[in-house]
Amino acid sequence: MASLLPIPDARKLIIDDLAPLGTERVKLAQALGRVLAADAVAAVSHPPADVSAMDGYAVRAADVARTPQRLNVTGESAAGHPSPKTVGAGEAIRIFTGAHMPKGADCVILQEDTTPEDSAVVVKEGPKAKQHVRPAGQDFRTGDVVLKAPRKLTARDIGLLAAMNLPEVIVARRPKIGVLSTGDEIVLPGGNVSEGQIVSANGPGLCAFVTAHGGEAVELGVVKDDPGALLAVAERARDLDMLVTSGGVSVGDYDVVKGALASAGFKVRFHKIAMRPGKPLLYGRLKSLPILGLPGNPVSAMVCAVLFLSSAIDRLQGLAGDAPTLTAARLGTPLAANDGRTDHLRATLSRDAEGWLIATPLVKQDSGMVSSLARADALIVRAPHAAAASAGDVVSVIELH
Ligand code: AMP
Ligand code: MG
Repeated sequence: MASLLPIPDARKLIIDDLAPLGTERVKLAQALGRVLAADAVAAVSHPPADVSAMDGYAVRAADVARTPQRLNVTGESAAGHPSPKTVGAGEAIRIFTGAHMPKGADCVILQEDTTPEDSAVVVKEGPKAKQHVRPAGQDFRTGDVVLKAPRKLTARDIGLLAAMNLPEVIVARRPKIGVLSTGDEIVLPGGNVSEGQIVSANGPGLCAFVTAHGGEAVELGVVKDDPGALLAVAERARDLDMLVTSGGVSVGDYDVVKGALASAGFKVRFHKIAMRPGKPLLYGRLKSLPILGLPGNPVSAMVCAVLFLSSAIDRLQGLAGDAPTLTAARLGTPLAANDGRTDHLRATLSRDAEGWLIATPLVKQDSGMVSSLARADALIVRAPHAAAASAGDVVSVIELH
């Protein structure tokens, strides 16, 4: 057990080994999910001027210190149509949400607190100072750094960048990640499956994972358990930022990945992790190409992708490469004590009447079962030597997306 690397140590070795890639400029319509690579500086102030937050009347607060008060309505200010007039003593200007405050006025009386009278208005409620006025630049001012890099852009961020009058942003280049399945028995989906063959879950699954996490996946197909074939692909993979392999990283006679790479000068950073599923996990560099060798077992491969590949993709885009977020949930059923490896149990999530998240481990945890991985909503993370747990105990889960 001593030679198995703890998960956080392995993640640190990967992220310390990887440096952020270059950047590119994209239009906002292409920016969702990309990592902002340069601080975003507002090109305009928001709001651009003092504006009304309500429909009502722009007035001078001093005029309506005592109510009721009758004011002459001298004009109108609507959004997009500011009034050129100044509000003088005893005057009001009809105003609508988002409209510029006219000169002279310092507050807005709610429409509901007035009674219109021909060309005048009777104010029934006195205002508080600056009432219902959004001051110019309250949200941000021209030149403010409003979003700091690095940051994975959300739909809300895109709206904000648009409000900052930035039609384009500088983002990290998407890491180009090759996905190569290894194994004499592995065939691509859609063909004939002869005796002794199985269909590759990992190639398509891992490519989708890469895409979902912001990388650009390059499906490299399948190679046999043949050192030469594997090396030929790795040597050709010149324009990749990372190569991900699946299969052949254990210690069986046909686990040729490590040996094949070693013969070409591969520098191993680690090979075995204190986790389940997925003990064999290889990381290192072949010349300048980082290679992550995932176990062939599809559940192990995907769990390792969740734990390590996501951090690698983040890091290559300039993010920290943090561990997946842990969420607290209550156990739906009891669990036995854990051994010395961190365990990741596939579980479904539900909510109890009080809104607590309930994580119920799937009954069959065989790491060969891809159906249960797809059905799972989360992985329950069990620390090494965690004691037996009862239903209702709080555990940590990684939510799967
Ligand atoms: P390995 O890590 O090569 O020893 O493979 C472990 C198990 O995963 C074996 O049962 C393989 O048949 C299976 N396996 C390997 N690669 C894939 C793949 N691409 N898709 C589905 N199963 C695989
Ligand atoms: Mg194999």
